[in-house]
Amino acid sequence: MSAITCSHVEKSYGATTVIRDLNLSIEEHEFVVFLGPSGCGKSTLLRMLAGLEDISGGEVSIGGKVVNDLDPGDRGIAMVFQNYALYPHMTIFDNIAFGLKRQKVPMAEIQQRVEAVSKTLGLDPYLGRKPSALSGGQQQRVAIARAMIKTPKVFLFDEPLSNLDAKLRNHMRIEIARLHQSLKTTTVYVTHDQLEAMTLADRIVLLRDGRIEQIGSPAEIYERP
Ligand code: ADP
Ligand code: ADP
Repeated sequence: MSAITCSHVEKSYGATTVIRDLNLSIEEHEFVVFLGPSGCGKSTLLRMLAGLEDISGGEVSIGGKVVNDLDPGDRGIAMVFQNYALYPHMTIFDNIAFGLKRQKVPMAEIQQRVEAVSKTLGLDPYLGRKPSALSGGQQQRVAIARAMIKTPKVFLFDEPLSNLDAKLRNHMRIEIARLHQSLKTTTVYVTHDQLEAMTLADRIVLLRDGRIEQIGSPAEIYERP
């Protein structure tokens, strides 16, 4: 069974259509990259997969269920945003633990899970600090930790590396690839960076003006004779 299905998906803002009759099926454990120029509709489509956006037409299903019919807590989705979207007044521990606290997970279990995730991402020395005391790369790791701790089935990334310098971008790209392998999630990743797409993707979905222009493995898209 496919993990995510888009069937005749449309999105309009007023009179402007930004996603047009889009059909796509993503397999379990696949790493799919939405690639295309700014404004082609990548983020809008990703937000629709997350159920963060009303759909103007068609249907998005996750695990065989229509995403907008599911309770946000039951969707099994975690999303990492370009600007990290951390809570500035909370410590790193509380940022990572936020979702579990809302689900009323017992404190001892929260403690244990935050420590495990922090260790994986090298964040254990910073748990008592506020986000503003961390570098951009560290803040992005906190955003990933906060998503990871929910043990999502589907991991969504919206240009997660755009605000990092080149060296850190390389490093985090490798880390994201490793996490995808070890967590065995289905991952959808938005970028306008061809290198990121080619090195991360099982399949690239090339978007243009709200339509799929091309879809295939990096080799199929970039090494055609
Ligand atoms: P990308 O992620 O590929 O840069 P977006 O999905 O952010 O593209 O945007 C696609 C198009 O939809 C753009 O033309 C953008 O201006 C428009 N758009 C996105 N969000 C809104 C909104 N909330 N209201 C109106 N137009 C929007
Ligand atoms: P991204 O960096 O992901 O492409 P944008 O900078 O395009 O995001 O958009 C940031 C926010 O502004 C989003 O929530 C998007 O919905 C909203 N937005 C984008 N374009 C428009 C628009 N033309 N009118 C209103 N809101 C917009």
